[in-house]
Amino acid sequence: MTHSFDALIIGAGQAGPSLAGRLTAAGWTVGFVERKNFGGTCVNTGCTPTKAMIASAKAAHTLRHATQFGLAPVPDFTTDLAQVKARKDAIVAASRKGLESWLTQMPRCTVFRGTARFVSPTAMQVNDDVLEAKHIFLNVGGRPASPPLPGINQVPYLTSSTILELEELPAHLIIVGAGAVGLEFAQLFRRLGSQVTIVERNPRLLPHDDEDVATAVAEILTNEGITLRLGAECIALAQENGQPVVHVSCEQDPTSSRGSHLLLAMGRQPNTDDLALEKAGLQADARSFIPVDEQLQTTVPGIWALGDCNGRGAFTHTAYNDFEIVAANLLDHGQRRVSERLPVSAIYVDPPFAKVGLTEADMRAAGTPVLLGKRPMTKVGRAVEKGETQGFIKVLVHAETDQILGASIVGVGGDEAIHCIITAMYAQQTAAFMRRNMFIHPTVAELIPTVFGELKPLAK
Ligand SMILES: Cc1cc2nc3c(=O)[nH]c(=O)nc-3n(C[C@H](O)[C@H](O)[C@H](O)COP(=O)(O)OP(=O)(O)OC[C@H]3O[C@@H](n4cnc5c(N)ncnc54)[C@H](O)[C@@H]3O)c2cc1C
Repeated sequence: MTHSFDALIIGAGQAGPSLAGRLTAAGWTVGFVERKNFGGTCVNTGCTPTKAMIASAKAAHTLRHATQFGLAPVPDFTTDLAQVKARKDAIVAASRKGLESWLTQMPRCTVFRGTARFVSPTAMQVNDDVLEAKHIFLNVGGRPASPPLPGINQVPYLTSSTILELEELPAHLIIVGAGAVGLEFAQLFRRLGSQVTIVERNPRLLPHDDEDVATAVAEILTNEGITLRLGAECIALAQENGQPVVHVSCEQDPTSSRGSHLLLAMGRQPNTDDLALEKAGLQADARSFIPVDEQLQTTVPGIWALGDCNGRGAFTHTAYNDFEIVAANLLDHGQRRVSERLPVSAIYVDPPFAKVGLTEADMRAAGTPVLLGKRPMTKVGRAVEKGETQGFIKVLVHAETDQILGASIVGVGGDEAIHCIITAMYAQQTAAFMRRNMFIHPTVAELIPTVFGELKPLAK
């Protein structure tokens, strides 16, 4: 059967549902297609489940360190991963169901369940239905990549999605890949009680971030007993005695990592391969992303790509910002562009690492005259009171214009405190402006004006 709409939205991830809300409120009819779980990656296998499990892991960590806070140790404390999972599943289900009922009850929106594929630039097929529209918005997201590692077909492995289904704690989890996903799972499973080894090709963690950040994050993890095997040049997988083995050396390797479970956390790939893009006249780039312009329009007029599938961001906040850009430009006569947004992100190890803008390494490479302010968390009262003094606050300011160029916070509350710097940067504010702010005591953020008052030239 053929159905006609003003717009089609493919994928109920972080951009599509809100876009449906705006378009239908403006009087458009929308055909909405989702093939699996409403809420996409973030709600079902990404942000929400991991942060829920990280909260359980934090509770375990606090129990283990009860004596540090003057409490008697908790004897016979064990982890019940099935219960940790049940808590996480309940949080995920509430979010997914809320979104699903919002969309299915949305006036002027018709939801189809299945995989959408192009049949022409203005039509897509879903099961036996053909959906036509002059405007098509792709929000198809991505999935864990299966890297071409030697031995990958011989070894059972977990992905960032399937690991969330475990009900028994791995005795020894080996994680290949030290990006945000690998690091978060490493610490959470370590805190729940697994032995954890991270294998990573790069000689240090977080190669796109500053060395001091990488060192601080590595210390946080190794202090908790996580083994880091960095600089693994020739990663190969094998199975011996029913257990996964990860070879890390190009030579005969007596020091291979052997564990009970293997997680591959080596990036993600966009869900663009089964869209039949060619039928719309679209072509994915070499990394399978759908190329878009500053307004997120593809090379075919009337087709937009939002979220992880366009390669312009890999976060929930970038996907949602894509929605805001498209909605503003279509419905509010806006002129919003992707390049207006600042690079912001956090990695939810505990304490977290949050950042905005450029790094010290970026400035050195560009030869930008820069002033640096830095304060260890040992000199932040709130961190001391909480007994969480790892990490630092670091800010970077242009030496001539006083403009704020970037900041990194590794430390307790850093994921929240960074937002006062993000806001100041969006307002194109200066260090002098930051120094005049009075913040609430006692917070981590209250020290940020002080850090902007302690600027020094970068050490050579
Ligand atoms: C373990 C993990 C932790 C993460 N933690 C964070 C975090 O803390 N903060 C953060 O900002 N980001 C985090 N992310 C990243 C974040 O989840 C993604 O960036 C975000 O979900 C991208 O949203 P999206 O809308 O682009 O796509 P998705 O959320 O992936 O949604 C795409 C949807 O499209 C559907 N779909 C795909 N193809 C079709 C088709 N042909 N027809 C119909 N439907 C289709 C899919 O089923 C899916 O529901 C995490 C990711 C992972 C894996």
